[in-house]
Amino acid sequence: QELAAGSTASDCCSIYLLNDKQTELVMRGPPCGVEPSLSERFWRVPMARSTSGDVLQALKPRAMRVDAMPAESRTVLDAAGLHHVALVLLVANGHIEGLLSLGRMSDLRYDAVDLEAAQFLAGQVALQIENARLHADTQLRLSQLSLLFEVTRIGSEEREVAPLVDRVLAEVLKSVPVDLALVHFVTGDKLTLAGGQVSPFGGKGALDAFAARPLDDTSMVGRAALNRRTFASSVDELSGTAQRTAQAHGIRYLIATPLVAHGRLLGTLEVARCSKQPFSEQDEKLLESCATHLANAVERARLYDDLKRSYQALAHTQAELVKHERLAALGELAAVMAHEVRNPLGVIFNSIGSLRKLLQPTGDAGMLFDIVNEEAERLNRIIGDLLDFARPYQVRRIPVALDRVIAGAVEAASRVEAAPQVEISTEVPGAFPPLLVDEALLRQALVNLVVNAIQAMPRGGKLKVSASAERHGERQVARIDVSDQGVGISAQNTERIFQPFFTTKVSGTGLGLAVVKRIVDAHDGEVDVKSSLGLGTTFTIRIPAAP
Ligand code: ADP
Ligand code: MG
Repeated sequence: QELAAGSTASDCCSIYLLNDKQTELVMRGPPCGVEPSLSERFWRVPMARSTSGDVLQALKPRAMRVDAMPAESRTVLDAAGLHHVALVLLVANGHIEGLLSLGRMSDLRYDAVDLEAAQFLAGQVALQIENARLHADTQLRLSQLSLLFEVTRIGSEEREVAPLVDRVLAEVLKSVPVDLALVHFVTGDKLTLAGGQVSPFGGKGALDAFAARPLDDTSMVGRAALNRRTFASSVDELSGTAQRTAQAHGIRYLIATPLVAHGRLLGTLEVARCSKQPFSEQDEKLLESCATHLANAVERARLYDDLKRSYQALAHTQAELVKHERLAALGELAAVMAHEVRNPLGVIFNSIGSLRKLLQPTGDAGMLFDIVNEEAERLNRIIGDLLDFARPYQVRRIPVALDRVIAGAVEAASRVEAAPQVEISTEVPGAFPPLLVDEALLRQALVNLVVNAIQAMPRGGKLKVSASAERHGERQVARIDVSDQGVGISAQNTERIFQPFFTTKVSGTGLGLAVVKRIVDAHDGEVDVKSSLGLGTTFTIRIPAAP
């Protein structure tokens, strides 16, 4: 401006640039040679109904006497002490950038030569401006391109959805720039926060404030999702809670754009800005492309996740199948064995009974008869346990009162293993809801645990069976504890007690806990053990209340 004023013998000079919408001429810096208090009145000039506008329309420079100008312009120019003004176009490569305005306080009017010199100068200025603008534009494009490139790269690198979202948002925060960037996923009829990044201006609380939103048109993200199009807005245009929430975090401008992959709505990308700089149309476009890339990457990560889970499920099913097959084979074998062994066993029992009657043995002979009888009983028990273990389990769930099952199991166990020296107590909360289980199987499992507990306390002690309700996230779980004050289990045995045929007892079969495990598994439950040697043992069964 100073140079232009000097080389055209002017007292003041100002450069105006056309705004984007071409409705106004706007100064980009204070003019030279004008009082600061006055210069404010020159700052913006409308294109319509102004001399400057006319000059731009006519595409010709013009020199004027101030006193011959329309009243409006004249008062300002008079105040600045100007007598003559010249308006020349800033044109570069046929593209109009704006206007250069010159003023003289002397009575020397601008002649054709002055105008020509001014026009030449303005041409140079326009070229510089265009260069600067092109440079800025290129810079912007470059950063936009690199954002899209980064998003694509992250998408191809990251296989997990959560880190993918976080990394992309961090990139958006860096390149756009924004103060808050959020991704919501559609879950049922809600939009649930899937990730967010906040600049220091956005504040930490912002993520919580924007966490879950209804999927309806009460919010801008909701609208973006439902209509599958981008919405941009300033905070003044919002209403109600949305506006208050945004204002509370100093947010001025927002954009929400849908995440759509293969025609399917996955969620939304939302960004917010706290500075006074509104989002440009280019920002909107950029976020839209960013959302498209992100949506595709999320879709891919989800597919990958699904695939991984399917493989795991397949491996699990396969393992189950193998186990099932093995058990089925064992069951068949056990059934044949039981049949084959039980017949001779029956004969042995009968024969012993008859022999006892015939011989009426006493002393050593009587003792030998007892031994044969006991061992035959043991064989019979092994066969029974083996059948229990190998039998295929069909779980028939019915609502069952837990207190009744526990009482039944304690009674049956006491019959199997007489224990006058063991003090048994049970504890079930009064309002325990009925549990959906197979009653006979659950009783069988409890009988086995109680029998073991009794056997662990040959010198007596306390045995307690208690039930309680637990909550595991969304799931309601019934918990049953069987505790004794018996011999306990060593650490290295703890690893093996659930294996079939593992026993430390002279007349044990090692099948009791294996059966417990099978029954609990069949109910999608878990069985745990805590024990300390010499002090006692607690077995804990957990069964989900609803399958
Ligand atoms: P068994 O009772 O026929 O030995 P189980 O499968 O019922 O077979 O139990 C396996 C082993 O686990 C037992 O031999 C014993 O060593 C150990 N065990 C089970 N329950 C208890 C308990 N309550 N206290 C101490 N040891 C136990
Ligand atoms: Mg046992």
